[in-house]
Amino acid sequence: MAPDPQLRPGTLAVTAGRPDKTPDAPLNTPITMAATYVAGGEVEYGRYGNPTWTALEDALGALEGGRCLTFASGLAAVATVLDLVGKEGKVVVPKHAYTGTIMQLADLEARGRLTAEMVDITDTDAVVAACDGAALVWLESPTNPALEVADIPTITAAAHEAGAYVVVDNTFATPLLQRPLEDDVDLVVHSATKYLAGHSDVQMGAIVTRDDELWAVLKGRRDLVGAIPGPFEAWLTLRGLRTLHLRVERAQANAQELVRRLAEHPACEEVRYPGFGGIVSIVLAQGEMAADLLCRKTRLWVHATSLGGVESTLERRRRWKAEAATIPDGLVRLSVGVEDVEDLWDDLRTALDGCVG
Ligand SMILES: *Cc1c(COP(=O)(O)O)cnc(C)c1O
Repeated sequence: MAPDPQLRPGTLAVTAGRPDKTPDAPLNTPITMAATYVAGGEVEYGRYGNPTWTALEDALGALEGGRCLTFASGLAAVATVLDLVGKEGKVVVPKHAYTGTIMQLADLEARGRLTAEMVDITDTDAVVAACDGAALVWLESPTNPALEVADIPTITAAAHEAGAYVVVDNTFATPLLQRPLEDDVDLVVHSATKYLAGHSDVQMGAIVTRDDELWAVLKGRRDLVGAIPGPFEAWLTLRGLRTLHLRVERAQANAQELVRRLAEHPACEEVRYPGFGGIVSIVLAQGEMAADLLCRKTRLWVHATSLGGVESTLERRRRWKAEAATIPDGLVRLSVGVEDVEDLWDDLRTALDGCVG
């Protein structure tokens, strides 16, 4: 069903991509398990298309305001975008972008495919200067886990002036809090694994664009390389997307309340929060050991990587070797879920009380 562009985001989340309202039609798109289709149609083969992907792509496309393609994971979507860069092209990237994105760029650079220039994404003048001669400007805002915010409209205008494409990894903000295509950004990338699916049970990625030519190129790459989602995963992500607005609203309200309380806790040297969304990073005054202790001591909060699920999770990011050395040793990233905030605080405060010098 084609979405009505006048509808508000919460309504689009519930309705976009639903089957037409004909008698006895299912309300929701079924899972179509099909590796091949009867010849003579537009799809023909399972790698080229699937009705369950299409429903999800219609829904996410409506939310972001563009045309969507889904992928096997967030990093499959990232790889597909980086593949647009011609031989030895320059990519501008935040030094605190998601580790997997940085690792892909480092790998491509090591193999002579492109060059990557790392920037401080909060230094707009420096980013604008770096756009000169770039083929692609990669933005992630807020960044993971430093939670820095980029001036998307200014950087996008400068990048276009320089003839570069602009992509925003919108995983943290979701289309409910930030719609980069409205700022003239060319491509939006998601790890749908996080908020979009929202239940820590699916791995998926997506790209959204308003540019039909770019869409066709990216679809061609997906057809050829085969980084396609499973139909069941697409169905789960669509099911999760139906409550995105409720989950994001609650996670954000919980996060805002916890930020107020964390700022007063003596174990926290710093609380990083961009003012929106459900991710909070805290830096423990007593450093790495206290941060590890905190992750062991919580009972309700789960010590786990990833984010954006209904359940609250936390981890010390520098436990990963690939994490940037400029991220503090004692930084713990909190993915605030949709539980009752008083229970979240009781658990966190008790654990933090044990981490004071
Ligand atoms: C997790 C994540 C990715 C990678 O997504 P996967 O689904 O794990 O492949 C990309 N960008 C950001 C910001 C992420 O948090």
